[in-house]
Amino acid sequence: MPERNLQSTLNSVCDNGTSTRADVEFLLAQGDRDSTRRIMHAADEVRSRYVGDGIVLRGIIEFSNYCRNTCAYCGLNTFNTNLARYRMTREQILESVGNIAEAGIKTVVLQSGEDRDLDPFWLAQVIEDIKDKFDMAVTLSVGEWSEDDYRLWRQAGGDRYLLKIETTNPTLYGLLHPGMSFEDRLRCLGDLKSLGYQTGSGSIVGLRNQTCGDLARDIVFFKEQDFDMLGIGPFIPHHRTPLADEPQGDLGLTLRTLSLARILTKDTHLPATTAVGVAGSGDAVRSALAAGANVVMLNFTPPAYKRFYEIYPGKDDSAHSSGQIIKEIETIAHTLGRYVSLSRADSLKQRNENMLQKQTLVREN
Ligand code: SAM
Repeated sequence: MPERNLQSTLNSVCDNGTSTRADVEFLLAQGDRDSTRRIMHAADEVRSRYVGDGIVLRGIIEFSNYCRNTCAYCGLNTFNTNLARYRMTREQILESVGNIAEAGIKTVVLQSGEDRDLDPFWLAQVIEDIKDKFDMAVTLSVGEWSEDDYRLWRQAGGDRYLLKIETTNPTLYGLLHPGMSFEDRLRCLGDLKSLGYQTGSGSIVGLRNQTCGDLARDIVFFKEQDFDMLGIGPFIPHHRTPLADEPQGDLGLTLRTLSLARILTKDTHLPATTAVGVAGSGDAVRSALAAGANVVMLNFTPPAYKRFYEIYPGKDDSAHSSGQIIKEIETIAHTLGRYVSLSRADSLKQRNENMLQKQTLVREN
C-alpha cells in the first residue's frame, strides 16, 4: 500500500471522489495539533461554501428525565435511582416555548429520556398547541418509539427528529446498551426518514473500546444515510454509571470527527454540542464552530428542572440569561467573521431535493 500523506489524503477526502473509509480513519488518527488544525481548516471551507456563515440558534427544552433505557454512559439511565425524576406539564412546556419565541429563536427541540409513561397523544397535543400559538419548527428528541407514534407526532406538526446512532459498531452498541437492539435503532431512523421528518443522528466520541475505524464507519454511515442534522460530541463520564471511571473523550479527536463529518456530508446542520462545551475550556464551542459546526443549542429548561437533566455532569452550570448567552455567541461569531442567525434553518438537503424536484418538473414540462 502506498504511504499515506496528510495533505494528499485530506485533498482526496475533500474531493469526495476517491476517498475511502481508510482515508477517514487515517485522518482521525492524526492526533497532533497541526494535523487537527489543517483538517479543521478544510472543514471550515466546506462549511462556508455549503451552509454559509450564519450560526443558527435553536432552543431546547428537556421536558422529562424519566428513562426506561440502559445506556451505560448516561446519567438518566433507568438504574440511576439517585436521580430525582420530573416531567414538565403542558403549560410549563408552552411557557418555555414562549421564552424561546421571545428570544427570536424559530426552532424548539423537545427532548426527554425514554419516558415509558409518556402518553403519545399528550405529546401530539403539545406539538399541536405549539404550532397553533407559535411560528416555530418543532424538533423531537424522545428516543425509540413505534412507527405509529412517530406518524402521530408528524401529523400533529413535528418537523424534525433527533436520534443518535451513538456508534455504528454493533458489538460496541450492544455492550453499551444492554437489552436494547442496534436493529431497533436503525428501524427507528428508517421510519423517521420515510415519514418525512428532517432527521438527525450522530455519535459519541471516546467511548470505551471505540477505535478510529469505528468513528470512520460512523462518518461514512452519516454520508450514506444523508441525514439532515448530526450531533457529534465527546463522551463525558457520569459518576453514577458503569462508565464512571472511564476517561473523557478527547477534544481533538472530537473536533476531527466533526470536521470529517462536515467534509463528507457537506450541507448538514452540525451543532457545536453542549458536550463539547463541557469537555473543553471556554474556547471549545468556538473551536467546534471553527471545525465545521454551524448550530448552537440554547437551553430553555426551567431552572427548577435543569439540574436534574444530568446526562453528564457540568452540563448546566451557567446562570446566564438567554440574552447574555446570545451576546456571548455573537462575540464568538464576530471573532470568526460570522454572524448569529435567527432563521428557522430547515434542512438544506430538503431544499436541495425540492430544487431537484423543481428542476425535474421544469424539464418534464
Ligand atoms: N432519549 C433520547 C435519545 O436517547 O435519543 C434523547 C435524550 S439522550 C439523553 C440525548 C443524548 O445524550 C444521547 O443521544 C447521547 O448521545 C447523549 N449522552 C448521554 N450521556 C452522555 C455522556 N455521558 N456523554 C456524552 N453524551 C451523552
